[in-house]
Amino acid sequence: MTQGLSPADIERARAFHGHMCPGLTIGLRAAELARRELGLAAGGVADEEVVAVVETDMCAVDALQALLGCTFGKGNLIHRDHGKVAFSFYRRADGKAFRLLFTPPEDPHDEERADLRRRSQAMGLDAQARARAEELRAARIQALLDAPLEALFELQPARGPAPSRARLLESVVCEACGETVMETRARLFLGQTLCLPCFEERERR
Ligand SMILES: [Zn+2]
Ligand SMILES: [Zn+2]
Repeated sequence: MTQGLSPADIERARAFHGHMCPGLTIGLRAAELARRELGLAAGGVADEEVVAVVETDMCAVDALQALLGCTFGKGNLIHRDHGKVAFSFYRRADGKAFRLLFTPPEDPHDEERADLRRRSQAMGLDAQARARAEELRAARIQALLDAPLEALFELQPARGPAPSRARLLESVVCEACGETVMETRARLFLGQTLCLPCFEERERR
């Protein structure tokens, strides 16, 4: 049986991320829903056969790394920079695949929070406004923790096949800086093999 988030789960994600925030809370709930869909026990970590594809690089992703064990280093966390709060999961063993799209719940204080954010950026907040912003932020975190998962995410079929496995790739040497670079990342420019930074520098000239 899967269960909800434990205090230990929340603490693990908070410690990994460095602070508690609404973004991290979205990731906590996404991890909870992913566990449910993958049939993982409470506190369970996905094995390396589970690949997460994240379409944002915001706070939420840290909760997925902390709770599900999907990490860049293991190659089972992939960032596609779509700027969407959406997370897809693929399990190679049985082909299980789904996408979670965050659907922000109605918040009666949305306008007030936006106004505080604007004022904070423009001129900073006085102590009273700061306290109010903190209060609203804590309420937002709590609301995200309390909401039913169905109210927070649209559970959709995954889009497209599972990402291909990391392969051992050939390396080439950049003819400008002399550093070794994966062949798939190298560029050809006027007959020269270049790494991306060197390629971009030539392009700018
Ligand atoms: Zn954060
Ligand atoms: Zn180079």
